[in-house]
Parts: sequence; C-alpha cells; structure tokens
Amino acid sequence: METNYTTEQLQRLDAAHHLHPFTHGSALGAKGVRIITEADGVFLRDSQGNEILDGMAGLWCVAIGYGRDELADVAAEQMRQLPYYNTFFQTSHVPAITLATRLAELAPGDLNHVFFSTSGSEANDTNLRLVRHYWAAKGQPEKQTIIARWNGYHGSTVGAASFGGMKGMHEQGGLPIPGIVHINQPDWWSEGGDTSPEEFGLQRARELEEKILELGEDKVAAFIAEPIQGAGGVIIPPDSYWPEINRILKKYDILMIADEVICGFGRTGEWFGFQHYGIEPDIVTIAKALSSGYVPIGGSLVSDEVAAVINDSGEFNHGFTYSAHPVAAAVALENLRILKEEGIVDRVKETTGPYIKEKWEALTDHPLVGEAKIKGLIASIALTPDKSTRAKFAGEEGTVGTLCRDICVANNLVMRAVGDRMIIAPPLVITNDEIDLLMERVWQSLDQTYERIQAEGLL
Ligand code: PMP
Repeated sequence: METNYTTEQLQRLDAAHHLHPFTHGSALGAKGVRIITEADGVFLRDSQGNEILDGMAGLWCVAIGYGRDELADVAAEQMRQLPYYNTFFQTSHVPAITLATRLAELAPGDLNHVFFSTSGSEANDTNLRLVRHYWAAKGQPEKQTIIARWNGYHGSTVGAASFGGMKGMHEQGGLPIPGIVHINQPDWWSEGGDTSPEEFGLQRARELEEKILELGEDKVAAFIAEPIQGAGGVIIPPDSYWPEINRILKKYDILMIADEVICGFGRTGEWFGFQHYGIEPDIVTIAKALSSGYVPIGGSLVSDEVAAVINDSGEFNHGFTYSAHPVAAAVALENLRILKEEGIVDRVKETTGPYIKEKWEALTDHPLVGEAKIKGLIASIALTPDKSTRAKFAGEEGTVGTLCRDICVANNLVMRAVGDRMIIAPPLVITNDEIDLLMERVWQSLDQTYERIQAEGLL
C-alpha cells in the first residue's frame, strides 16, 4: 500500500489511533513504532530503508517466506470467483472441501476431519467446546476439566488464554475460567534444580497423573499442550517427558489436544511437531504456517472417533462467520502445495535444520549463553551470568533479554526475547548462506550485549 505520509507522521498517527497487542501503549508511543513497509524472502524492509533479517518468520508463521506471487494470484482469483460464502446453512464450497481433504491426507493417523476458524485462539476455543460436548454426548457430562500447563501459550481469547499458563494474562480479566487447571512445565534449565534433565522430565510428566488422580479421572476431559512450548521461550522438553505423558493419557482415557499452531507444517522438520514424540492426539490446533500468515486461517483437526461422536449428537452449536473462508482456504491450499512440491519440510529436516543445529549449539561457547536448544528451525538460548549454577541475572527478569533484543534490531536481526531467553524461528525457506548471516548477527549482538551489561554492572 502506498502512502504519502513520512515516518514521523505515521508514528504519530499510530500512537494516536492504534492499540497494539501485548504492548505498553504509551511507552511505545513515546519511543515511536518501527514501520515495516515491504518484505521479500527472509528479509523485511522498514520505512527508513533498513533491511532486517526476520529470524521470527513474522510471528512464527511465514513458512514459505515473503513475496510469493502464487499466493497473491490465488487470492485474487478466488476473490473474483467467490469472495465469500458461509458453511453454516447446508452449503459448502470448493476451497473448503479441497483444503479439508488435503489436511486429512497430510495429518497422520485418523485425524481426518477439520473445523475451521480464523486463528489459533479461535481454534482452541473451539477445542474447549468440542471436548466438553464430546464427553457430554458420550454420557459423561462430568468429564469437563481440561488440564493445561503453566507457561504454555494457546491464544488470547477467553478460552485459549485460560488454557494458557501466562499469569500476566490471567491477571487481566479474571482468568482462567472455571474447569481449567494447570500443571508445571518441563523447563529443566529454569526449574530443574539438582535433578538430571531426564529425571526432571519424568517428574513433570507425573504431575499430570497426580492432577488426574486429585481431580478424579471421570472429571478430566482433556490435556492440552504444545509439543514444544513456543511463546513460553522455546522450551524443548527432556526426552523422558512425552513418552510418560502418552502413557498416562492412555491409562486414564483422556483426550489429547496437541497445539501445533507453531510446530505445525514443517517448523521442526516434520509436518507436525507431535510426530517427534510419539504423541497420538485426538485434536490438533493449527493456524499460522497453514497459510504462511498471508491470510488469517486456523482450525482444529479432529480424529475419526471424536468427529463421529460430534456428528451423531445433534447440532454442534458453534461456528464463525469466517469458518473456512474461501479466500483463506484457497491461499492455504496453495501454501501447502508449495511446502510439499518444493520439498521445504524435507529441507528443514535434512539440510538447513542440521546445518543450523551445529552452529546454534556452539553458542554455548559464548560467555552469556547457558543452554542452546534447537529442533528443526525453532531454537532458543538461555542467557545467564553463570552457566555452572544456571543463575538468573540480578534485577528484574527480562532486562538483559530486552537489551539483547534491541541490540539485535539495531543489527538488523529480529530475534525475540522471552524473559532472558532469546528465541528464533526463521522462515523455513532460509538458505545456508542466510543462516550464516543470521548466526553472524547473533554472535555480534551477544558480544555487544555482554559489553553493555559489563559496563552497566548487570553481571
Ligand atoms: N497456540 C499457540 C501455540 C500459539 O503460539 C499461538 C499464537 N502465538 C496461538 C495458539 C494463538 O494463535 P492466534 O494468535 O492465531 O490466535
């Protein structure tokens, strides 16, 4: 979109009229927002001409990279042919049917059905209603409680934010809603104490069993979790964690909701993150890379068993005006075609993933970096003043992380901070040369952060 406004004018208008998500509005208004004007491949350009390497694929979503004309062409064609129609009143359309069929082919096992939404949050709110309705329809209306995890992230709508374990979100608006409880996360670096990672993974998984026994298995509907926690800081669990969770869920007949909003569609080198961990989900939340973020679309993949119960129990009183929006569905299909035909997911697994892994893990040679974790193209480092004790910095948590993030931006790299963890999830089309550039900027930014915190006495 063209504009005659200067950067300063745009910043002023943004501060005057635009409320930003997860932002301290007046602080940002005083600083002045960065205005992104265009993007191509893995690079963003801002209104001041900076070319920034996007180490976060937007918000984890731009899998095929920016600037793919094919998606724009498909959207324009679909808008001309059928820009909108609903799927409520005994109607459907070709993009909805084709995308649902394609997703059923891609998803392993018996995940053969999909309920569409426009975001991950809406999909998780759908899941809340789906699982409760499922058990009620099966004659077990008491089986309603959903177990989730502290520091998980599942979205910002009321149900999804209640699933999430972000205390700062719960404090605003009286969350979680009743019937959602949380257990601890498998974050060994921050919470593992003196136990080994494997021992700690088992301990944290067994909290699920303890919670089920405390509530009564006849009261627990489902467990929801991200295979790898994304917004919580890219927490890759110890290897012992998921097998034990799987065992417990099977034992007590509890539905598993795998939130694949970040991990889905190749991020980890498999089509779905749960495929690494032997998880057999009944419901899978999808969004983000489903359309590479070019248009909003999300959904819930549902197993044969759950779909059969829902389909046979009268009307499911739930849906969104934009469920299976034809333009979004057509764009998602084209995106999935590109991911498959260009071998992008295989490339993450076989080429770029292994290439960056070695370089990323070597970041522990930096004096500020404690652990460095990576799976495919999703990675994190924990910043620490003392690796041997896994110590936290003195002062408020996140001060060093935020400083490091700002230094990254000044070095034309988007690397996000979660507290004092730094995280990346670049577009899946990133090349080895671009990975070299990313790593160069990461090292440069860590060096500068180290100098600054030494100078400011934060070490
Ligand atoms: N689940 C996970 C795992 C997410 O990371 C997110 C968004 N970051 C969501 C759900 C919510 O998705 P949306 O922002 O599209 O509502």
